[in-house]
Amino acid sequence: MKRLIVDMDDVLADTSQAILEAFNTINHTNYNKEYFRNKVFYEFINQAQFESIRPMIEAKGFFADLPVMADAVQVMHDLQAKYDVFVVSAATEFPNSLEEKYHWLANYFPFIHWKNFVLCGDKSIIKGDIMIDDHEKNLKTFEGESLLFDAVHNWHLEGYQRVHNWKEIELLLN
Ligand SMILES: [Mg+2]
Repeated sequence: MKRLIVDMDDVLADTSQAILEAFNTINHTNYNKEYFRNKVFYEFINQAQFESIRPMIEAKGFFADLPVMADAVQVMHDLQAKYDVFVVSAATEFPNSLEEKYHWLANYFPFIHWKNFVLCGDKSIIKGDIMIDDHEKNLKTFEGESLLFDAVHNWHLEGYQRVHNWKEIELLLN
């Protein structure tokens, strides 16, 4: 069975939406994802004129109730018949996220065994056949096949096979 490595933030969970909402709340702005079509998301939100979102991301609770991506539960469920599925998430940068991510995954994806949840720091240690991730830094060190999950912060990135949603992944991997 091929090993499928699936990222959590901005692949299973709509973390960017939560980040953008946190940003809007503390800066009294009203940006939506589409605004960043021609901008570099993190560069924009990290400008000195804006209040930093980092304390909100570091605080307890941020990762506890992230919205789940459309169709992710059903497609992940079905892919288990064909792949050895692992959820791999870089979590140690935000220590409070570790427990919250575990419970979030167990809640939405109860059919995935806890042994297949990998909460780590640096994904370059990960081996597998296919990796779905939204960050180039994770895909470029991966030795298998890469799928870039479309996200507000990677719209400018070229050179990877891009998937836009879970229905597209289902068609591609089934
Ligand atoms: Mg991610």
